[in-house]
Amino acid sequence: MLRSESLEFLRRLCDAFGPSGFEREPGLILKDYVTPFCDRVTTDKLGSVLFSKRGSSDGPVVLLPGHIDEVGFVVAGISKEGFLSFATVGGWFDQVLLAQRVTVRTAKGMLPGVVSSKPPHILTPEERDKVVKHDKMFIDIGASSKDEAVEMGARVGDPVVPDSKFTTIEKPLMENGTVKGTTTLAMGKAFDDRIGAFVAAEVIRRLTTERLDHPNTVVGAGTVQEEVGLRGARTAAWMANPDVCLTLEVDISQDIPGVDPDRALVIMGKGPSVLTYDSSMVPNQALKDLVIQTAAERSIPYQLSLMARGGTDAGMIHVTRVGCPSVVLGVPTRHIHSHVGILSLEDVTHLVDLVVAVVQKLDHATVTGLTAL
Ligand SMILES: [Zn+2]
Repeated sequence: MLRSESLEFLRRLCDAFGPSGFEREPGLILKDYVTPFCDRVTTDKLGSVLFSKRGSSDGPVVLLPGHIDEVGFVVAGISKEGFLSFATVGGWFDQVLLAQRVTVRTAKGMLPGVVSSKPPHILTPEERDKVVKHDKMFIDIGASSKDEAVEMGARVGDPVVPDSKFTTIEKPLMENGTVKGTTTLAMGKAFDDRIGAFVAAEVIRRLTTERLDHPNTVVGAGTVQEEVGLRGARTAAWMANPDVCLTLEVDISQDIPGVDPDRALVIMGKGPSVLTYDSSMVPNQALKDLVIQTAAERSIPYQLSLMARGGTDAGMIHVTRVGCPSVVLGVPTRHIHSHVGILSLEDVTHLVDLVVAVVQKLDHATVTGLTAL
């Protein structure tokens, strides 16, 4: 179970306002949290936060990135009636947008709004059967004219995020009809990928406060602009110059209606995932095996995952400079890229345990061995 201070940090990090390109708020929260137990906290010139802790040796450099941007929107126009059109930031499925609350950040402060389109009463039967595209939707901030919207602070280019608060859910764990215990889930926005940055911070906090030996320098990174093309990963990786990288991410929990249970690779509550392949990277096989072996030794549950489409920061980092042996470890999360995701805090704790254990093994010889012929 997470410490109450850690849970509070996770809550603040996820509730923070930070679509791609506007990550200052989650960046500051991350910086404040990690400063007491890191040797050095710095930023690159794109906004990624790098926080490092030296162990018993300077090298190898172990990078633990998690991106701190979230999917969101930017205001694209203001109609004469006072409604805001918007462009998407990151990948959205248009059907999850309608009737959702959003927050628009303006120079005059935050504005609550709701994503809307024509109500069903005035739709033609043909319109009713069609999927509404986001460019036909608008954000209603309550204004009745363009002048009112502008007076309220709205301006083209203003960032927008889902209005969705972090909460926890206690639930029973059942086995054959009997209660075997309880577990805690988290529900909220931006788990993709504040949970990755959270895990990186917790790993370094534990290494420091529990005085755990590690034969390397660990660099956590809260990277920016992942959702718009892994941009922060490029500059953060150049700055950190890592020898090995464990990218920390969400994974797509497939225990949802519509997915054949026999084909579901990753399930919430069954342990962190080890991504074996995605469209941006094939992991270093020796590193992947080291992670799997470490999980088995420590009796940490894990799930092998595969993502035919989509990529992660590792897609950029593993080809930085001369290349960097990399693997992606994930927290199974339901409903990513929507207003509300759900994940298991037990999976999060297991991922922290696993990364700590792997980091402790990454000495110079082991890391050199990952790419030796
Ligand atoms: Zn994402």
